[in-house]
Amino acid sequence: AETGSTNADLLARAVMAPGRGGLQAPTLLAAETQTAGRGRAGRVWLTAPSAALTFSLAWPFAAPLHALVGLPLAVGVTIAETLADFGVDVQLKWPNDVLQSGRKLAGILIETATAADRQVWAVIGIGINLSVPEELQQQIGQRAASLPTAAAQDRNLLLASLLGALAQNMRQFESQGLPVFVERWNRLHAFAGQQVSILDQGKVLYEGRALGIDQIGRLMLQADGDANPIAIMAGDISLRVK
Ligand code: ATP
Repeated sequence: AETGSTNADLLARAVMAPGRGGLQAPTLLAAETQTAGRGRAGRVWLTAPSAALTFSLAWPFAAPLHALVGLPLAVGVTIAETLADFGVDVQLKWPNDVLQSGRKLAGILIETATAADRQVWAVIGIGINLSVPEELQQQIGQRAASLPTAAAQDRNLLLASLLGALAQNMRQFESQGLPVFVERWNRLHAFAGQQVSILDQGKVLYEGRALGIDQIGRLMLQADGDANPIAIMAGDISLRVK
């Protein structure tokens, strides 16, 4: 019914010994209300009670660890393709946001934990706004969107569809890696061809035209005056449209 963070709960479970509360199979934890939702780099994910679909999927990750950097992109594609089945059109913002008409509809936070048996667990946290009351909108600090009522009506059905698609795409990601998602991501890219700024802790690092992602998930940026595009790695980097 209520918890601080579904990601924090599953990360804590992942490091426990199997049989003593530890995870033994892919595990979903969904919360009606999250009181301490997390974003990247200490940022927060804010929701009003019962006003978001918030859940995390803990997945025993069976791909090389360096592949994890591309995982938020594959998860973004999964969310966008599933929402399209519900008649909701969304776009993706590199590296980990789902937008609707330029407003953030959903966030993705992937964290990892290594269990005592050395199994790496990827905990995939997803928050999708069902409604954003005015007071919350003011606290969020960037423009938020919420699902249209028709799609939000059956949260369980949407959650089940997302879970099915995530399981299928996680297996595909593990066996084939990010390349199978790259074209799909680029088709959904919110800022394709647009002028953007790349920020590191609020400071502008680069400015240029966002081209799309490459085979390992880096954002390709054509900076003004440069002959070749530059490749941006995720880290704690933010993107703003100019
Ligand atoms: P940046 O906003 O710098 O590009 P980010 O979007 O990757 O970074 P995350 O850590 O993924 O940041 O998400 C946290 C941010 O999302 C918060 O700082 C806040 O601006 C925004 N946010 C928090 N709650 C919501 C919400 N319910 N709906 C939309 N946006 C939210």
